[in-house]
Amino acid sequence: MVVLWVARTLDELKERQRRFDDTVESKYNEAKAKYPEIDNIIPIVLDPVRGTVLKKGSKPTPIEAPLEVINAIRLRSLKHAPTAGCTCVKCEVKYDAYGYVVGALHYWVPDEDTFVELPDGTKARVEGLKTKIAQGKVRILSDYEVKVE
Ligand SMILES: [Zn+2]
Repeated sequence: MVVLWVARTLDELKERQRRFDDTVESKYNEAKAKYPEIDNIIPIVLDPVRGTVLKKGSKPTPIEAPLEVINAIRLRSLKHAPTAGCTCVKCEVKYDAYGYVVGALHYWVPDEDTFVELPDGTKARVEGLKTKIAQGKVRILSDYEVKVE
C-alpha cells in the first residue's frame, strides 16, 4: 500500500525510519515463533538452494534453515545506526539471485542546511530536510521511501 502525504515535521520522517526498524524487528519475532533455532544461526549461507547455514557452537555445524528465517536475521542487522544530524529518507533492501538479503542502503539526508564551497571560492547553500519540509517539498511515499523535491 502506498501512503502519500506531505511531511509537516522532521519527526514524521524520523517516525518512518523507526517504522522500518520496527518492521524488521517484528519480522524477526515472527520467524522466531515458527523457528526457535533462529537465535543459534550464523546467517552465512553455505548452500543457497538448500538454505544451509551454520549453527552456533564451539564447533559450528551445518544446519538447514528456511529463507525467511535467514532473511529475518540479516534484515535485523540492517536497522538504522544512529546518524547525528541526518535522517534516512529511503531504505532499499538488496537481494541476491536466490532471494537472500545481502544488504540495505539507507539514504541519509542532513536535517539542517549545509554549505559547500564552489571552485570559485564562494559558498552555496544546500537545503536540508527542515528547509525542504517548510517549503512543502517533502512527501512520505511509504514506510520505505520519502520523496524530496
Ligand atoms: Zn533507511
